[in-house]
Amino acid sequence: MSYLDNKIPVIRELRHPETSLAHGDGHFRGLGGRGCAAVSSRADRSFTQGSICPLLPALGIMCSLPDTVVLLHGAVGCGTCASGNNANIRAGNAQRGTPGRDALWLSTALDELNVINGGNEKLAEAIAEADRAYKPKVILAVSGCLPGVIGDDIDSVAAQTQERVGARILPVHCEGFKSRFMATAYDVVYHALGRGLMPDPAEAPAKAPLTVNVMNVGSMGLADEKELSRLLGRLGLKTNFLPVFTDPESFKKAAAAALSISVCPTHDDYFLTHLKEKYGVPYIIRHMPVGVKNTGSWVVDVGRAMGLEDEAKKVVSEEEKELKSALGEFSPVLKGKTAFLSAGEYRSLATASLLKELGLRIVGIRSFHFDEFAEVEIKKLAKGKQDFVYNVANVQPFEEANILAGLKPDVFLGHWHGNSTAARLGIPAQVMYNSGHGYMGYAGAYDLARRLARRVGHPEFYRRLGRHGRLPYKASWYQSDPFSRIRRGGATK
Ligand code: SF4
Repeated sequence: MSYLDNKIPVIRELRHPETSLAHGDGHFRGLGGRGCAAVSSRADRSFTQGSICPLLPALGIMCSLPDTVVLLHGAVGCGTCASGNNANIRAGNAQRGTPGRDALWLSTALDELNVINGGNEKLAEAIAEADRAYKPKVILAVSGCLPGVIGDDIDSVAAQTQERVGARILPVHCEGFKSRFMATAYDVVYHALGRGLMPDPAEAPAKAPLTVNVMNVGSMGLADEKELSRLLGRLGLKTNFLPVFTDPESFKKAAAAALSISVCPTHDDYFLTHLKEKYGVPYIIRHMPVGVKNTGSWVVDVGRAMGLEDEAKKVVSEEEKELKSALGEFSPVLKGKTAFLSAGEYRSLATASLLKELGLRIVGIRSFHFDEFAEVEIKKLAKGKQDFVYNVANVQPFEEANILAGLKPDVFLGHWHGNSTAARLGIPAQVMYNSGHGYMGYAGAYDLARRLARRVGHPEFYRRLGRHGRLPYKASWYQSDPFSRIRRGGATK
């Protein structure tokens, strides 16, 4: 039975109970080292400073869908991250030929009276109003924490309201309190879209034997989609990217593809398993095409599955040759420099492999969580026998600041919150991911190396920031063990 047969998605804690751990720390010295013991033991924190609600990435995906209204059912503050996401939505739409199109999200803005009396009626009215005002193809009725706590039934409201509106209403269960793993966001969105937009198997489109589904939940921009299309195009294959920026009517094409491939295993297992079980589309969920070797493995995997392994190896060999000669110009700047990476589990590990290929030394990695999908990347890094700090934290900037102040890397790669911490410590900070830049494939490796060389080669701006910037921590915190707030088995370390 598929997870999607359930009305409510299954959270990560239940799907991967042995390995989906929120917190860990330690030094990584290969698979037998202390690092692995740390991440494979159950741990928590005696103090936690901040974390990311699954709504943040979930809204990022949902707001990108054309002809769709995202109706957030919850406290009005729940959806505010959609405003921050809007830059990506606007840029993504402009790149795809629809400039000026913003994210379209509304909120039922539940208040104290709704908490007492229930919010079902308010949701039904808001759905009808959204349908009247915007005439979308789809309305995503998204539950935040509050409806989950007071017992609103978004599925029943959607079913009862459906006959009064033209749009298709899809309930999305994204109550932040249910899972500590931000990655649950991908599951809840796939759950809603898979249940609501995919066809009955008997009505699926005719098979497209040369088409490969490439899953993109927002971890790559159009430049990356073009690069991966180019690479698979060299094998005579066509690509079908989904779900971001995909028209609701086009989801059914995924059922006809010959193969599905993930670009980030953390994101996609929920939906790829469903595509295989329900529509017979096989899948690969192994490598992130970031870096020279990873990209080669990703392309060869597709080639092998499509009966084109020799052709894929030839493409990889030609592309690697060209890239290696192009990367030569950055070597004098990057070789021997130290780096700290801070991002989602898979991106941080795959990017660490790329940085090693560029000659940098990894001194630390902080990832949002750790689960079984990271093991392939961990094994690749373990081969280098490097010793680096490995911190598993759903943000926790106080810990990151302490680690960075101790390590003082030559460059920090992270998302905006980590970058601001690093910059105020005087450490050159390179944005880990920006949907306007290339990141994946061979072109992405070159693009990242070029930006990195510029950052590492000109550290003075950050040095000055470090002299004048401040973080809110006392000097005594920097002298403490950064992992002293992590408890194992109930006791603080
Ligand atoms: S944790 Fe709950 S209340 Fe907070 S933003 Fe997420 S859904 Fe809203």
